[in-house]
Amino acid sequence: MAKTNIAVLGAQWGDEGKGKIVDMLTPHFAAVARYQGGHNAGHTVYVQGTKFVLHLIPSGILHPGVACVIGNGVVVDPQALFKEVDELAAMGIGVDGRLRVSEKAHVILPYHRELDVLSEARRGERKIGTTSRGIGPAYEDKIGRRGIRVCDVLGDRAALAEEVRENVSARNQIIRETTLDWQPVFERLVADGERMRPWVGDVSLFLHQTMAAGGAIMFEGAQATLLDIDHGTYPFVTSSNASVGGICTGLGVPPRAIGGVLGVAKAYTTRVGEGPLPTELFGEIADRLRDTGQEYGASTGRPRRCGWYDAVVVRYSARINGLDAIALTKLDVLDDLAEVMICTGYRTDAGILTEFPADLRLLAGAEPVYERMPGWSSPTKGVTRFEELPAQAQRYIRRLEEVSGVGCAVISTGSDRAETIVRGDSIVAGWFAKS
Ligand code: GDP
Repeated sequence: MAKTNIAVLGAQWGDEGKGKIVDMLTPHFAAVARYQGGHNAGHTVYVQGTKFVLHLIPSGILHPGVACVIGNGVVVDPQALFKEVDELAAMGIGVDGRLRVSEKAHVILPYHRELDVLSEARRGERKIGTTSRGIGPAYEDKIGRRGIRVCDVLGDRAALAEEVRENVSARNQIIRETTLDWQPVFERLVADGERMRPWVGDVSLFLHQTMAAGGAIMFEGAQATLLDIDHGTYPFVTSSNASVGGICTGLGVPPRAIGGVLGVAKAYTTRVGEGPLPTELFGEIADRLRDTGQEYGASTGRPRRCGWYDAVVVRYSARINGLDAIALTKLDVLDDLAEVMICTGYRTDAGILTEFPADLRLLAGAEPVYERMPGWSSPTKGVTRFEELPAQAQRYIRRLEEVSGVGCAVISTGSDRAETIVRGDSIVAGWFAKS
């Protein structure tokens, strides 16, 4: 068992391979807790050749005995949750007794998806590139103080009917082309609530009790720091706080419960959807990264935009989240390249920037300042010891550490649990020592 609670979160624009890292570290923890986002997240985990794709349920579910928590900061689409539960059941994994859903989590209603599609259509050229799963509109209702929480679904029926009627009426005023009847929405919600009931509870209390009993918790981030509603590339972001700040509000735990923060970063950069990506590549190298790295979204299948490692971004993430260490993933994807590049700054109209700017217009015309390094042109796939990596790959990682200002404690060299280096002298090894 770990000695401390840690957070594992995305240090770039998502899809860094958090699922694999969370899965690999789970045996050290009593519980894994999601604090934000919805089923727009997609974690792909391979265990001995079997592929698991998880959207809402923490990837810790793949380990027997580990509690999996969906916090109040998450928005829950009951249908999406049931689909995932059923798929896990078909693969022999039961969730009863292990899954806990916060009674304060807000629910996604069927018309939230319609509103998502409508809002993207209205933005036209300036569309965000959302997954159109209703996540953003559900958060809008939450902040607008008209959302419906899981405890409301399980509570007084007449009050719930009233809330659903008012919300559906508001929806009918926005989408005038079709009129939605509130009653089927209400009935569906009541039925969904009954199926969820055994999993629902006070998640904050559960986590506090787990900690009091000496159990360690892993806080699992979805999306990533550059997609954070406050610290990301606004407005091309997700609707929640994916950075470390979301943990306290999204689970009801105090800041001192977070004993360490592990940022997950790819050895290069990808982004799905719209918005700036300063190191974006086009042409042959982009295609190679996309094909070798299988850079297609786990939730939507969309091809991801690919670029070189951006140290400005990772340094920024390190500052926002207080990263103690990086888990560097997908090193093996770079194996065949003759040359690799690292972005250390942006050349802009306002001079060379070495800190990530808030104003996206500065980024739009930015030209990355690159350092070139020779590639290693030999396989790293499956390597489990740092010293066994090709010398040039070791040099690349050391340079990433210098320019990002954070050590790479974990290095992933393939999608399987076993294809991982955990550096013995790193802070991460210290977290688990003598545990
Ligand atoms: P997440 O949302 O951050 O968990 O990321 P995704 O699951 O969307 O994407 C990560 C993908 O990369 C998954 O298909 C993983 O199996 C895969 N992956 C993770 N680590 C590695 C690695 O070190 N090498 C390779 N080749 N693939 C990896």
